[in-house]
Amino acid sequence: MADQMDRVDDLSNSLKGARVIHVNSTAVGGGVAGILKSLVPMMNDAGTQSEWMVVEGVPEFFDVTKRLHNLLQGAEGTLSSEEYDRYYDHNARVAKEIADAGINPDVWVLHDPQTLPLASLFPAGSTIIWVCHIDTTVPNQQVIGQLRPLMREALRLVFSLPQYVVHGLEDKRVHITPPAIDPLLPKNVEPSVESVRATFVKMGLDVNRPVMSQVSRFDLWKDPWGVIDAYRTVKKEMPEVQLAMLGVIEAEDAPEAFDVLENVRNYAANDKDIHLYADPELVGQTDVGAIQAGADVIIQKSIREGFGLTVTEAMWKGAPVIGGNVGGIRIQIEDEKNGYLVDSSDECAGRRMAMLNDPEHTREMGKVARESVRQKLPTPRLLGDYLFAIKESTKGALTT
Ligand code: UDP
Repeated sequence: MADQMDRVDDLSNSLKGARVIHVNSTAVGGGVAGILKSLVPMMNDAGTQSEWMVVEGVPEFFDVTKRLHNLLQGAEGTLSSEEYDRYYDHNARVAKEIADAGINPDVWVLHDPQTLPLASLFPAGSTIIWVCHIDTTVPNQQVIGQLRPLMREALRLVFSLPQYVVHGLEDKRVHITPPAIDPLLPKNVEPSVESVRATFVKMGLDVNRPVMSQVSRFDLWKDPWGVIDAYRTVKKEMPEVQLAMLGVIEAEDAPEAFDVLENVRNYAANDKDIHLYADPELVGQTDVGAIQAGADVIIQKSIREGFGLTVTEAMWKGAPVIGGNVGGIRIQIEDEKNGYLVDSSDECAGRRMAMLNDPEHTREMGKVARESVRQKLPTPRLLGDYLFAIKESTKGALTT
């Protein structure tokens, strides 16, 4: 940690006063907004003049960008030329508004595919970093063919893991930066037993019966159906078990969430012990933290996962997570040491059962989980990684 702080100090010295603007497409909901909420103030503390700009969208734009997101994560299908036009045209309007307002920072940091076309729309000579937060291990080739030229417009490219680096981009431009959680956010501060209890009661959970939980947007890649399947298998042996699925719908750029929620609600088929939460008025950030800290078993059964901050958050609270054996979850969970990696709902159910039956072992594993977050994913490392990418981009020597 001391090394990380020294690195931040060194980098800050050379970036004093640098004007940086981060751009993404939602102020709330999901991992990217969560990261920016902490990262931008930290970058200001480090001496840069950083801001966060949210690109306003319209449903027709977000319908396309959500599909793009799915295709980049490997979904089948294509986008029509009319859909690409909608994507580019919306970004062109945004670029024009920015130009008209005379906004011209030293460095732009664009996040995720929603904002990528801006890389080719800002004035020549702009310094641009593009950050990809999603799992692009096996992207849809048609979409990659369309987006690769845009990625090449950025001076620096940031991916969460080496295997996500899109084929055909020059290595020397690429940075690998897994995200990190902010331990000082209200949802990450260890809650008291009383507040955990109060949250459970408020959310209609029986505090005297075991609770399994997945905290994740209602999204096809998070496999909410698989979570319910595994719960049902456990329920056969442990009828008292309850399932709490938190997927508060806030992010404007994720329009599918309502459909997925509806589908999951049908799949839950009026089971009184399956609790679905999506209303931001009812579930706040401290409730998320309380569930992560207080549930008997935390699951993150994703079938694709750029990183999975929810896994880090739960591990930080001493929960050994049962996670899908994919993407960013793999670098966080060491199977059978600080959690479990699973490839199917049956395997997930088996691990849940074992954890519920042996709370002592689960607690011990939870301590290892918390320690691994402390060692591997401290916040100063994330800050240092971004400052480093910004410093490298401002050298301007790597343009092709
Ligand atoms: N989250 C939340 N409320 C919810 C579900 C998720 O606040 O009901 C937060 C969660 O705590 C995490 C973020 O949303 O900080 C999700 O990040 P992650 O990297 O796990 O997934 P993403 O949504 O970015 O795919």
